Amino acid sequence: MKVDFREAKSIITKSNIPSIDYVINPYTGCQHGCIYCYAEFMIRFTGHKGDKWGQFLDIKTFDLNKIKPQKYSGKVILLSSVTDPYLPLEKKYQNTRKILERLIGTEAEISILTKSKLVVRDIDLFKKFKNIRVGISINTLDENFARIIERAASKPLDRLEAIKQISEAGIETYIFISPFFPEITDFRAIIEESKGYATRFSFENLNFRPHNVPRIIKVIKQHYPELLSKYKQIQKDQGYWDILEHEIKAHCEEMNLNFEIEFHHGGFSKS
Ligand code: SF4
Repeated sequence: MKVDFREAKSIITKSNIPSIDYVINPYTGCQHGCIYCYAEFMIRFTGHKGDKWGQFLDIKTFDLNKIKPQKYSGKVILLSSVTDPYLPLEKKYQNTRKILERLIGTEAEISILTKSKLVVRDIDLFKKFKNIRVGISINTLDENFARIIERAASKPLDRLEAIKQISEAGIETYIFISPFFPEITDFRAIIEESKGYATRFSFENLNFRPHNVPRIIKVIKQHYPELLSKYKQIQKDQGYWDILEHEIKAHCEEMNLNFEIEFHHGGFSKS
């Protein structure tokens, strides 16, 4: 892992994501190295041409005094969109913790999203926010498959245990079932495991993009060869997601869950 330090002009930036006003990415790059990651485009914008996603990390340096908690009243702030706020190196550099400490007192809605059990370290801080929700993303309970597709993230059951602890501390929690791997992601099993402590569930489908297709297909070929033709078909035909969306909706309604489905429709992105 190539580790560097880079000064960030601003650590809280405006977001292009619908329903999110601001994003905080305390690092550039991501140690988790998920095979499907949609943030890999960051290589081009951050002077990392030639580097491989998952093999570099810039620790952002910034002026903490420039963070003004009152500036974000009524806004939604997400940590994080193109990195994970609780990477292994967060233990050492604590950028996420320092930013959260500085934001205490804000009237913003803070949304934390991670794949790391390290998130429990900050329960003491989460308790100091008026409006905060903490979530994990997960798409399988199978430790071996998770290791293949998200090699440096916490084990799925450890992520769920972290959310359980956060919920028991009185903090609102959510489970982001993402990205949904056709015929592999058992959403019912994940819900069953976590429904006792997660406040909300959301779902996102797997988005095939030119940079991640070869990696996804390689993994399916090696570990689920019987699904290969199905995956190739789903790349061309959105019908699978429509059917799945109905299934998820029916199940969540039957279970009386608080949920939202954030499936991308209308073809696979070529950008
Ligand atoms: S944790 Fe998120 S940002 Fe990091 S590699 Fe995985 S998908 Fe990408």
